[in-house]
Amino acid sequence: MPEYIIVGDGYAALFFAHQLIKNNRTFLLFSEGKKSASQVSAGIINPVVLKKFTTFWKAQEQIDGLKKTLAEIEQYTGKNYWIEANIHRIFHDEKERELWLKKSQTEELNPFLAQRFETLSGVENPHQTGSVMQSARLNVADFFSDMMRYLEQKGHLVLEKFDYALLNPSEQKYGDIRYKHIVFAEGMGVKANPFFSEIPVNPNKGHHLKVKLSSPIDHSFTVKKKHFLFPMDADTYYYGGTYDREQYHNEVDESAKAQLIGGLSEIYKAGYEVEAVHFGFRPTVKDRRPLMGAHPEFDSLYVFNGLGARGVLNGSYFSEVLYQHISQGIALPNEVRWNRFS
Ligand SMILES: Cc1cc2nc3c(=O)[nH]c(=O)nc-3n(C[C@H](O)[C@H](O)[C@H](O)COP(=O)(O)OP(=O)(O)OC[C@H]3O[C@@H](n4cnc5c(N)ncnc54)[C@H](O)[C@@H]3O)c2cc1C
Repeated sequence: MPEYIIVGDGYAALFFAHQLIKNNRTFLLFSEGKKSASQVSAGIINPVVLKKFTTFWKAQEQIDGLKKTLAEIEQYTGKNYWIEANIHRIFHDEKERELWLKKSQTEELNPFLAQRFETLSGVENPHQTGSVMQSARLNVADFFSDMMRYLEQKGHLVLEKFDYALLNPSEQKYGDIRYKHIVFAEGMGVKANPFFSEIPVNPNKGHHLKVKLSSPIDHSFTVKKKHFLFPMDADTYYYGGTYDREQYHNEVDESAKAQLIGGLSEIYKAGYEVEAVHFGFRPTVKDRRPLMGAHPEFDSLYVFNGLGARGVLNGSYFSEVLYQHISQGIALPNEVRWNRFS
C-alpha cells in the first residue's frame, strides 16, 4: 500500500515527489504522458518582476530553498540542474535605466539588481543592460527526463491517466489501491477533477519559439527585453514566453507567434529561422500565490496548484511546506490556502 499518490508530472508533482523520496515515503505518481506546461517552460529562476523592478513574497528564501533542493536531488540523479546564467535586462530607454538604479539602492532590491550596466554584443541594447543577481535557469529537459527515469526505475511511476471515477475517498481506495494521502498536482488539468474543480485557478496561455540564429550570440546568459532569449544547445535558442488570458484552445495562436517574432526581431537583427512553436497553460491565481490544502470533506485529498509564472521556485519551495503540513500537521500559511478568497 503506497502512503501517497501524486497525480501529475509537472513541477508541482515532481518537487513534491522529491519530498517523499527525501523522507523515505512510499508513493505512486500518475502521469498521463502529455507534455506539461512545465516542460514547455523556460526554467528561468528570477527573484525580480522585470516589468516594474520589484521583488515578491519570500523571493530570497525561495532561491536559497531551490539551491538546497537541487543539491538534494543531485544525490540520487547524479546531476545538478541549476544553470549559473544571470538575466541581462535590456533597458527600453534612459528613464528605465534610471529607475533600475534607484531601485537597486533600496534594501529590498539591492541583493538582486546590479548597479553596474553592461553593453552586450550580438543584440540591440542602445541603453545598455542591467544584470539580475542570483537569477539563473533550470536545465528543464534534463530535469524532467532524469526525474521521470528515476521514478520509473524505483517503481513509483504509473504511466496512466488518473481516473477520478475509480476513487473512493471514504474508504481511501483508488481501484484496489489503498492510500493514506493523495496530492493532486494537475496544473490546469484540475478543472476535470471533481474534488477540486472549483479552486480559483485560471489558465494563462504561453508560447515560445525555438529558433536557429544565423550568427550565434557569444554568451550563455539570458537576455530579456520583451521576452527571454537564451541558448538551448549549440545551435538553437529559446525565445518566450507570451501571456494570454483569453485563448483556451489547444493550438498555436498566430498572434502569439507574431508577437514573438516582432520581439525577437527588435533585439536580434542578423536573421533567424523559427524551428518550432510550443505552448502551455500556466495555472495562475489572482494574487500570484499557490493554492494548497485539503478537501473540506475528505481530508486525505490535497491540492497543490496555482504555481503561475514561477513554477520552478513555487514548486520547489511550497512542496516542502505542503509535505510538512501533511506529515507533521504544521499549519499552512493563510497566503497559500486554496480557500483563502472565500
Ligand atoms: C511558455 C511558458 C514559459 C514558462 N516559463 C517559466 C519559467 O521560465 N520559469 C518558471 O518558473 N515557470 C515558467 N512557466 C510557468 C510554469 O510552467 C508553470 O508554473 C508550471 O508548469 C505549473 O506546473 P504544474 O505542475 O502545476 O502544472 P503542469 O506543468 O501543467 O503539469 C501538470 C501535469 O499533470 C498532468 N495531469 C493532469 N491531469 C492528470 C490526470 N488525471 N492523470 C495523470 N496526469 C494528469 C498533465 O498532463 C500535466 O502534465 C512557464 C510557462 C509557460 C507556458
